[in-house]
Amino acid sequence: MSSKVGIRESGCEGVREECNGERSVARLDALGVEDEAWREVSERRRPSDPLLPYSLTPSLPSARPWMLGLIVCVAIYGGTTVSMAQQTAAPPKERTRDQIEAKYKWNLAELYADVEAWEAGFAAAQQKIEKLAGMKGTLGKSADSLLSALKHRDDTIADVDKLVVYAGLAYHLDMSNSETAGRSDRAQSLATRASEAMSWMVPEILTLPSETVESWMKDSAELAVYRHMFADIDRQRKHTLSAREEELLAMTGDVTASFGTIFGRLQNTDLDYPVIKDENGEDLKLTNAKYYQLIYSPDRRVRRDAFLGMHQVYLDKRNSLSAVLSGQVKQHMFYAKARGFNSSLEAALFGPGIPPAVVENLIRTINANLPRLHRYVALRKKIMGLDKVHRYDLYVPLVEGERDKIPYDEATKTILAALEPMGSGYVATMRTAFDSRWIDVYETPNKRSGAYSWGAYNAPHPYLLLNYTGTANDRSTVAHEMGHAMHSWYTCKAQPFVYGDYATFCAEVASTVNEVLLAHYLLQHAADDTERLLILQDQIESIRTTVFRQTMFAEFEKLIHEQAEAGQALTGDGLCALYGELVQRYYGPDLELDEAGKAEGLRIPHYYRNFYVYTYATSHCAATNIGRRIIDGQAGAVEGHVKFLAAGSSRYPLEVLKLAGVDMTTPQPIEDTMDLFDDLVDQFEALYNRRKAGTASP
Ligand SMILES: [Zn+2]
Repeated sequence: MSSKVGIRESGCEGVREECNGERSVARLDALGVEDEAWREVSERRRPSDPLLPYSLTPSLPSARPWMLGLIVCVAIYGGTTVSMAQQTAAPPKERTRDQIEAKYKWNLAELYADVEAWEAGFAAAQQKIEKLAGMKGTLGKSADSLLSALKHRDDTIADVDKLVVYAGLAYHLDMSNSETAGRSDRAQSLATRASEAMSWMVPEILTLPSETVESWMKDSAELAVYRHMFADIDRQRKHTLSAREEELLAMTGDVTASFGTIFGRLQNTDLDYPVIKDENGEDLKLTNAKYYQLIYSPDRRVRRDAFLGMHQVYLDKRNSLSAVLSGQVKQHMFYAKARGFNSSLEAALFGPGIPPAVVENLIRTINANLPRLHRYVALRKKIMGLDKVHRYDLYVPLVEGERDKIPYDEATKTILAALEPMGSGYVATMRTAFDSRWIDVYETPNKRSGAYSWGAYNAPHPYLLLNYTGTANDRSTVAHEMGHAMHSWYTCKAQPFVYGDYATFCAEVASTVNEVLLAHYLLQHAADDTERLLILQDQIESIRTTVFRQTMFAEFEKLIHEQAEAGQALTGDGLCALYGELVQRYYGPDLELDEAGKAEGLRIPHYYRNFYVYTYATSHCAATNIGRRIIDGQAGAVEGHVKFLAAGSSRYPLEVLKLAGVDMTTPQPIEDTMDLFDDLVDQFEALYNRRKAGTASP
């Protein structure tokens, strides 16, 4: 969202139409789509930490940039927008907050001494918001008036962010508390008001002649800070329409946003999923959440019934569902055409300044490497002793092992050791985070579930929420969220407010680099072959689900847009056939596709977000590339990564990633990830055979 004029990744733009006003409704609506999106991504990984969404608004991605607030700070500290949709409280746990040592809990008094101080801040922010309206029409008067309006805007957003974060964090600690819930709602409403109050600014900046702004920047170093922001706004000129046309387009927003809403309602409310028998022969009504547990079942009958039962529902409703998806695709086409883009893809990527070649390169390179995935499917077939692998056989772990619970203090020690290649400065900051109450560690009654990193530019540091229970996955989650926190930390230290966030395209890189380093360390220090196999299995599945599978989704998305743009109808049968062809191509000859499985394309909520799913794959590949070079001790790798972390949104995301030595327009980072995948499968197979042959190390 560099396109957000550097303000904040208003990652939530897509659901914004539904978001306005009432947060809870907005978030739940978002949940229809996003809760699922998240699951797809994380598949069985962490329950909370997806990429940020992207734009699906009728306006240019940055035409209404100051939609700060809600999303805003969420985005800033990395990828929690979607997880905010997950605001379900954890089931009551035995330990209450006062039974947990202070060092494992947040100290929110760092943000505001008490509620009175927060109320005073709220009142002050309201006044700042009111003052914004009075600045309308002043931007072109002089360099000083432009600068003071921008600074006032930044100040206002920063204050509102901090109010939102404090209220949100307090609410998440006990979601049954109506008082904190009320404050959080008020803060969200304030953010919406602030966003509305500054909505005139970009249109007004667009009326200023570029030469005038340029000459003002020459004379004012303070104004020159905004150079990238101005350039980004300027970029929109040729896709900006007349005032009346813009008004008309804005008026279509509520109507065209309906497709995603309809899909969300169907998926989460109206579609009737069947009752199947669980492992114990008990009746179990399928839900989205249960589905994601059951496809991991070692009992093939159970996972088959879950998969086929779920997808038969989509297959049966393929005519209606394809009409909804087709409407969504036409929405993308409509706005792309209205704004003079050559394709929906080009329009969708315009906001963050990503060339379509990035997506094309990803799809092409992954396709060239599909034999590597086929080989993995063949290995699964062999190890599982199957004639044919079905879609529902892809998730079940090949190796099971009881792992001891990992005490939190041990996990943090391991993570610090694993991140040592990043250098003493990075590790020292992480240690500070662990020691200085950046993290609310344990489950407590009514605490928000999942994990995230969140904060505001003016906060003393990012805040990490965990629900740590001591699993290996929890340990990885700590490393992952700490990656987001470090990204935010470096960015906020180095950048002025206007660039103090980072784009969706970059959001999952730092977190994944941390995970890459942790996995490498764990593999090197594993106690036995079983542990090694478990670690390898996690890494292999991570690449399968995040790189291969998300690229397949991206390819489907691209193809259906191209078909529609070529004037073809998107029918239920046509979409199922196309999706089936893709699944077969990706997974190869050892996969036998069930008829119902072809309807999976109609179940995936990503398609109601406008071309963003590819960023899961690109982020993962970028992170793998960076992580491997750091592990190998390649000259400049650490320094490059730190530059990347500190760049915020001061450049376009592709350029920011180049600071870390990664060029996502080239096949290299993707090829490297594919090599790693092969290597991991090699290691897995060798170890597996060794263990089977009974010669495993003790
Ligand atoms: Zn993340």
